[in-house]
Amino acid sequence: MNNLIPYRIGLGFDAHRLKKGRKLLLGGTEINFSYGLAGHSDADVLLHALIDALLGALALPDIGTLFPDTDPRLRNMDSRKMLKDVLTRITRAKYRIAQIDSVLICDRPQISSRVNQIRQSLSALLKVRPDRIGIKAKTTEGTQLALPGKSISALVIVLLVKKR
Ligand code: MG
Repeated sequence: MNNLIPYRIGLGFDAHRLKKGRKLLLGGTEINFSYGLAGHSDADVLLHALIDALLGALALPDIGTLFPDTDPRLRNMDSRKMLKDVLTRITRAKYRIAQIDSVLICDRPQISSRVNQIRQSLSALLKVRPDRIGIKAKTTEGTQLALPGKSISALVIVLLVKKR
């Protein structure tokens, strides 16, 4: 069977509740805000959705399977370390990241003024040019879609290209 697919796509989703007394990390960078996200690891919702998108592109088990939140060693874990592990798997499979697009579903804090900070962080972590990383923020307009004002959710889609 020819297993050489030139392109692979992956989709990831994650959500965490806002909580006082935690740092807010989005895309591997700290966002200045009075709340952070609750979770077993550092709760970087954007990196978690990105990791699941990358794993999904390779049809690998998801983040919760590879890094279970019942593992005490992963408490407050830096999500950038999980991402590094996943990037190694992509390199090993001989793919590279061509493009990423993402949506943050978030009533607060205001993301639009932080998009460049998040994009620069992702660009450095992934070694992907900033003009290949889409970041959009959407408020929920009181629709109850994502616990308005109480949580942040993220959707990420990635395109991988087979290395020559
Ligand atoms: Mg998560």
